[in-house]
Amino acid sequence: MSDAMQLIDSDRGGLPPAGAEGDVAAVMAVLQEVLDPEVPAVSVVELGIVREVSWVEGRLSVAVTPTYSGCPATEVIEEAIHRALVTAGYADPRIERRLSPAWTTDWITAEGRDKLRAYGIAPPVGSASKRSLLGAEPQVPCPQCGSLETERVSEFGSTACKALYKCRSCLEPFDYFKCL
Ligand SMILES: [Zn+2]
Repeated sequence: MSDAMQLIDSDRGGLPPAGAEGDVAAVMAVLQEVLDPEVPAVSVVELGIVREVSWVEGRLSVAVTPTYSGCPATEVIEEAIHRALVTAGYADPRIERRLSPAWTTDWITAEGRDKLRAYGIAPPVGSASKRSLLGAEPQVPCPQCGSLETERVSEFGSTACKALYKCRSCLEPFDYFKCL
């Protein structure tokens, strides 16, 4: 059985075999390799923007919700997803932009948060829904040393989606991925 599988694989001339219709896990494995252009440490799956994988009359359709509406990265991300799927052997995949419900930082996965931290960006603190109720400044731990002795330097960091913070313990500045 496994010998036959290998023969089929080698017949595709090195191209990875495209997942069968209905194989959502195979599509997610491809999307897991597509990184966010603004935060290259985190994949579109870990960012939580891939909302649905489905097939319409045999054609693969992927629903994507932009992180921040009007974010110029949206089209770049959609193109990157399309290119990755075509490269993986999916013919003519459809990328559907889904604006509702709006993306929230709550959708970033635990792995995504770990990678943000490793990249030197503090992940969103707490839940977006609770945050708006409290209306308080979040206590953001330093991604470098973990200290809670941090202060906000500017509302805007390297992009509008982030705020610039400084750690009073290790004195390193860092970006905070704003809660939304
Ligand atoms: Zn620090």
